[in-house]
Amino acid sequence: MYPKNNLKELEKQIKIDLENFNIPPKDWISSVNNNPPIVIIGAGMSALCLAFALKIKGIPCVLFEKKEEGYEGAWLSPALMENLRSPKNLTGPALISPSLTFQAWYKAQFGLTQWDELEKIPRVTWHRYLQWFKTITAPKIHYKHELIDLIVERKSIKLTFKTENEEQIYAAEHCVLAMGMDSLSSPNIPNYASHLPQKFWEHSYAGTDYTRFKGKNIGIVGSSAGAMDSAATALEHGAEVVEILCRTDDFPRVNRSKAASNQGYLSSYAYWSDTQKWDFQYYLKKEGTPPPFGSTLRVSKHENAYFNFNETIDKVVIQSNKLHVYTEQHHFILDHLIFATGFKLDWTKNIWLERLQHQVKKWKEVYTPEQSQSYDEMGEYPYLSPSFEFTPKVDESLDVSRLYCFNYNAHMSQGPLVGMIGGVAKGAETLAEALAKKIYIEQYGTQINHVKASEDFELQGDEWITDKTYRNTKRKIE
Ligand SMILES: Cc1cc2nc3c(=O)[nH]c(=O)nc-3n(C[C@H](O)[C@H](O)[C@H](O)COP(=O)(O)OP(=O)(O)OC[C@H]3O[C@@H](n4cnc5c(N)ncnc54)[C@H](O)[C@@H]3O)c2cc1C
Repeated sequence: MYPKNNLKELEKQIKIDLENFNIPPKDWISSVNNNPPIVIIGAGMSALCLAFALKIKGIPCVLFEKKEEGYEGAWLSPALMENLRSPKNLTGPALISPSLTFQAWYKAQFGLTQWDELEKIPRVTWHRYLQWFKTITAPKIHYKHELIDLIVERKSIKLTFKTENEEQIYAAEHCVLAMGMDSLSSPNIPNYASHLPQKFWEHSYAGTDYTRFKGKNIGIVGSSAGAMDSAATALEHGAEVVEILCRTDDFPRVNRSKAASNQGYLSSYAYWSDTQKWDFQYYLKKEGTPPPFGSTLRVSKHENAYFNFNETIDKVVIQSNKLHVYTEQHHFILDHLIFATGFKLDWTKNIWLERLQHQVKKWKEVYTPEQSQSYDEMGEYPYLSPSFEFTPKVDESLDVSRLYCFNYNAHMSQGPLVGMIGGVAKGAETLAEALAKKIYIEQYGTQINHVKASEDFELQGDEWITDKTYRNTKRKIE
């Protein structure tokens, strides 16, 4: 049933699946200037899935991506892991067509036996799958267009893109931020690094060349998945020693997000009370997430890898071109530090976010947690509607609700519908449904006039005869 090298057959099947579902449906959007009403920033997994969900609803959209074609998303760079953490049978962005899943794509190329033998999805294979998904679902994408400014206006969002040769301005009726971690966050770099020359340190997602770590002593700060990926990559590139410096006394052992994941969680989270959302997100942050099993083994199999717990860095000084890293208990002498310390929300990272933060509500303006659960960073996240819309802080006439946060930074409000493969389909369907409702209601007058002006005659008037002679069953009343 799944012979090898049968991708062409699968693609034929998808064509039939889509036809049987009447996709694309008939056009119904009226456009003022022929521009699609929806602009999506980014062309990673979230953007592709949303574009497909919109296509199913007959809503045109256009994507703007800063990278060149073929390199979208985080998977080729800066990601360093060998395999995805997620299970191989995830359905990802496939939405209505089982033939569009990773599983179908993989089996069609490599056969059932190889599928059965596959334990985890290799990172680059996942990237290739997403590229194929993009080809099949065929969204309109402008590459090498980096969003550099965004202004919320009364009835639109004004976007400025940097392209190879010029700046371009685009007025979007609705704009979705699907730029992954780049959307509202910056790398989380500890304060003590600010005085260190850049050549001595980097963030784990800097996407640099690890061959330069050959023969060097490398410190990895953090205990995340990214810490393991950076440590393993440095070791595989010939690092002399890798010291992993963890603040905690142990790794978390249970992945609580995975434990929470089921259809009820996906469907209900956006409708939880603010208290429930805060409680649960606070719990997840305090619990932490274990680094993946395979990634941890990828490091621990190296004899020159050292796991150090309870090592909070107090200060770092440079002596004789070496980093001297001091914790309460130890003194490490290293050549380079890699901060696998994740990302933090950063409203000051560019001019448009700096502006936007005064226009949209944040969690801290809506919800005050109990003292024991106070967590400044959580309060900084945008407070979104269940449809991913930003909500206005002061000026209600300013249309911030035309801007949608479809990325990890929506997790306080949207939970599992953002930032993970397992929730992307539900998130995209929810957002596409909301956009369909909103656009129709905005275009109500035009839509109803269209109904009234319709000349789609089902009867022409010549299907019957009215002037037949009277018969016995019908008499005129005198
Ligand atoms: C290392 C790593 C491993 C992960 N592993 C898993 C996993 O195993 N399972 C799981 O469920 N999730 C995983 N995730 C989380 C999540 O699934 C991925 O981050 C996924 O790539 C999110 O897709 P996205 O489209 O939201 O963002 P991205 O894939 O990051 O795509 C965003 C796109 O926006 C573009 N962009 C950014 N800024 C701009 C701009 N200003 N203008 C125009 N374009 C811009 C980027 O170039 C990029 O192509 C992982 C994440 C990382 C970083």
